[in-house]
Amino acid sequence: MFLKGLLILASFISPVFSWGSIGHSVIGSISQDYLTSQSFNQISTLIPDGNMTAVANWADEIKKYPEYHWTNSLHFIDTPDWQCNYFYEKDCFNESNDFNFCVDGAIRNYTSLLQTNKQSDYLKFLIHFVGDIHQPLHCGFKSDRGGNSIKVHFNHHQTELHAVWDSGLIEHRIQKYFDNSVDNWINFIKTNYIQKRDNCVNCSELWGKNSAKLACEYSYVNEEGNKIQSGDYLDETYFERTIPIIEKQIADASINLANIINYLFSV
Ligand SMILES: [Zn+2]
Ligand SMILES: [Zn+2]
Repeated sequence: MFLKGLLILASFISPVFSWGSIGHSVIGSISQDYLTSQSFNQISTLIPDGNMTAVANWADEIKKYPEYHWTNSLHFIDTPDWQCNYFYEKDCFNESNDFNFCVDGAIRNYTSLLQTNKQSDYLKFLIHFVGDIHQPLHCGFKSDRGGNSIKVHFNHHQTELHAVWDSGLIEHRIQKYFDNSVDNWINFIKTNYIQKRDNCVNCSELWGKNSAKLACEYSYVNEEGNKIQSGDYLDETYFERTIPIIEKQIADASINLANIINYLFSV
C-alpha cells in the first residue's frame, strides 16, 4: 500500500501529460481490483509484482526516445472536425497515412499479439492505450490536434484544452473535494461509477465512437453550447459539468482493461 501511494505521488508531480499521469495510474489501480487471481499471477511474470499502476505511464515515458517515435500516433485518433463519431476503416491513420496507427489499431494489435506472444512491452502498451482511448480528447478534432492547439485558462493556469482533460480537471477535483488524496478519489470512483458488465473484448471501436461523441458534447463546448476558443477562461461551471464524464470514463476504462486482461490471461 505504501509503495502504491508513493508511485502515485511520484506521478502526481510529473510534468508528462496524457490522460495525465494520474489518470493512467488510477485506471491501473482500479483495474487491478478486477483481475482474476489467475490473470494476476500470469501478468506478474511480465511486469514487476503484477503492478499495473507502476507501468501505466510507461508508454508516455518512452515517447521521447527516437527508437519509439513511431509510437506517437498510437496514443490517439484524429477525427474530422464535428464528425462527433469515429470509424475504424476511415479514421485510424497516422500523419503518413499508415492504416491502423491510431489508438484503436494499437489496442487491436496488442490484444492480438498477446494471444500468442506474452511479452512485457505488449502488455504495458495495452494497459496505457485502453486508458487513452477513453479520454474524449484523444478522439478529438484533427484541426486542433485533439484540443492541443486551443490555449485556455483553467484554475489560474494557462494551458491547452487537451491538457485540461488529461490532467487539469482531475487535479482540481482531487484538490477541491478529496483533500489532495488520490486514494480517496479512487474510492469515490469505485463506489459511484463501477458497474458489473458483460465482457467486451473487441470493443475498441465502440470506445472510440463514445469518446468522439463526448468530446463534441462536453470537451469542446461550454454550458451554453458555444465552442471553446483559444483565450477562453474555463470556469467552475465547466469543471462541475465535465468532471462526472471524466470519472465515468475512468471507471469504464478500468473495467474494460480488466476484462481484456482476464480474457487474455485467465487460461
Ligand atoms: Zn493526452
Ligand atoms: Zn498516451
